[in-house]
Amino acid sequence: MTTVDSCAHIETIRKSITDCEQRFQREPNSTTLLAVSKTKPAEMIVQAYQCGLRAFGENYAQELYDKACELDLPDIEWHFIGPLQSNKTRLIAEKAAWMHSVDRLKIATRLSDQRPAELPPLQICLQVNLENESGKSGLSATEVKEVAKAVAQLPHLQLRGLMSIPVPHSEESEQRRVFAELRQLMESLNADGFQLDTLSMGMTADYPAAIAEGSTIIRIGTALFGARN
Ligand SMILES: *Cc1c(COP(=O)(O)O)cnc(C)c1O
Repeated sequence: MTTVDSCAHIETIRKSITDCEQRFQREPNSTTLLAVSKTKPAEMIVQAYQCGLRAFGENYAQELYDKACELDLPDIEWHFIGPLQSNKTRLIAEKAAWMHSVDRLKIATRLSDQRPAELPPLQICLQVNLENESGKSGLSATEVKEVAKAVAQLPHLQLRGLMSIPVPHSEESEQRRVFAELRQLMESLNADGFQLDTLSMGMTADYPAAIAEGSTIIRIGTALFGARN
């Protein structure tokens, strides 16, 4: 693919996001496109960057770290979206701007302790397991408030919102029902005094439904970069 072709492709996706914002009465440009570049080579990230994308998502800590070291481009922003083991927190604390998948206080505490003083606070979302699927990572809806309270106290983190990876539903109405639960959970935290402004929800298969329910960051891999091996 030439750069021109790939920019046209990215523009198509941006146009689709804009159309969704309009269709669902969202503010223009209120949805950030996070380009999920996991498993994809550095050249593809550079190409997407040249087309104007700035936020890139990775789900392996070492891969995020290595790519961030290699691609130290102005204004590029690395987002971690995967499960994180506590022995890998330093890689994220040092290189990420955002961490979407905090699912326990221990990880948050380590990230805060290890965040370099010269960097701005690490932006945090708590991952919620909405349908309470066993074996899947994420806090249950009932655990979120307590963890949110503790995370909000940590000095080098800024608690921004909630993230979820729902089980795939093919019907848009079902997709919306689950995303609405995440939005309502954020609204109830805000009614309790939190000031959360971020819903990280929606992927290639379900981002229109997520935008309809108030997503502020959609995490798109396949639609931008093609299928992964
Ligand atoms: C891989 C991944 C995505 C992107 O999924 P696509 O279906 O390829 O858009 C989004 N979020 C998370 C947490 C992921 O791991």
